[in-house]
Amino acid sequence: MDDCIFCQIVAGDIPSRTVYEDATTKAFLDANPLAPGHTLVIPKDHHEHVQDMPVGVAGDVFATVHRLVAPVQDAVGAEGSTVAFNNGEVAGQEVPHAHCHIVPRFTEDGSAPIHSIFGERPDIADDELDDIAGDIADDVSE
Ligand code: AMP
Ligand code: ZN
Repeated sequence: MDDCIFCQIVAGDIPSRTVYEDATTKAFLDANPLAPGHTLVIPKDHHEHVQDMPVGVAGDVFATVHRLVAPVQDAVGAEGSTVAFNNGEVAGQEVPHAHCHIVPRFTEDGSAPIHSIFGERPDIADDELDDIAGDIADDVSE
C-alpha cells in the first residue's frame, strides 16, 4: 500500500521512533501522543482491520503488545495503560492500517475509561441479547 503512512514507516520511507520490531510486527511512538510514551503496535503487512489480519499475525501483534506494556509504562512512570484499537472508520480509525494504541495512564491524568466514549447505555431486552449472543456464537463456530 504505497499511500499508507504505516506501510511507509515499515518501509523506512517515513521516520519513526521505533521501540521494537520483529519479523511481523513493529512498534513506535505515536507522533501526536495522548500521553508521554503513547505507543502504536502494527502488523508489518498492510491489513486494515483487526479481523483482516490472519490469526497468526493477530497473535504476533498481541504478543508484541504484551511484551511492550510494562516497558512503556515503566519508561514514563505510568501506573497503568489504556490498550485499544479504533477498529474501522466509524470507531474513529484514521489510519487504515490496523494498529493497537498503548496509552500510559496516570492517576492525575483526568482521563476516563473506554466506557466514557459511549453515552447512555442502550436498554436492550433479554430476548434481543439472547438473539445477539446466538448470532455471534453461530457465526464464530462456522
Ligand atoms: P487512529 O485514530 O486509531 O487511526 O490513530 C492513528 C494514530 O496514528 C494517531 O494517534 C496519530 O497521532 C498517529 N500517527 C499518524 N501519523 C503518524 C506517524 N507518521 N508516526 C507516528 N504516529 C502517527
Ligand atoms: Zn499499511
